[in-house]
Amino acid sequence: LFDSPLAEAWIRAIAAAVEEEQARLTELDSAIGDGDHGSNLQRGFAAALTALDGLQPTGPGAVLSKTGATLISKVGGASGPLYGKAFRAIGAALPEPADPAVLAEALAAGLDAIRALGKAEPGDKTIVDAWTPAVAAFRTAAAAGATLPEAATAAADAADQGARDTVPLQARKGRASYLGERSIGHQDPGATSTALLFRTLADITS
Ligand code: ADP
Ligand code: MG
Ligand code: MG
Repeated sequence: LFDSPLAEAWIRAIAAAVEEEQARLTELDSAIGDGDHGSNLQRGFAAALTALDGLQPTGPGAVLSKTGATLISKVGGASGPLYGKAFRAIGAALPEPADPAVLAEALAAGLDAIRALGKAEPGDKTIVDAWTPAVAAFRTAAAAGATLPEAATAAADAADQGARDTVPLQARKGRASYLGERSIGHQDPGATSTALLFRTLADITS
């Protein structure tokens, strides 16, 4: 079951992965944005770790809600509110330790929150292009009786593919959209960090 220790392990693993991949995320955002995606997430997840240090979680949702609130307050860029609202929505859907089917619906609620705020459609070259296939793969696996690590690995593979598939797209949302056709040929930084997020979920549950 996805419980509070796993939720906390997930956030710690994301913070470590973002730290490790910060330069790559910055490089991707330098090509089609303003070059701060790596530092935005590094700052946000480092702050989330500090916030979790003082927390006595009542369930996995409390850990993720706290993370979401911290991202919203500490990250100024587009990604802060988008990831922040996603984690808050996932957290709100997980009052208790969750099986894969419940976690699938929580992740779907996270994607809904991203879409409600950012108004991006699949194909707009945003984090939605990695979240959408990841949530679909997690749901399908969970419905077929997959274990947590199996469902999370399917989601991570789908998110990786979704991120790679942003390369030929023209951005229609966010800063990269200002570049018009010049955004074509680059992988979206946010879709790339979303792939990291799902990969860490697979890693910590495996
Ligand atoms: P900023 O663009 O404000 O500098 P970041 O660099 O941290 O913020 O994040 C950029 C990423 O945010 C993009 O690569 C894209 O994936 C995502 N993004 C931007 N606008 C939207 C939106 N409206 N909906 C979903 N994702 C978005
Ligand atoms: Mg940026
Ligand atoms: Mg910025």
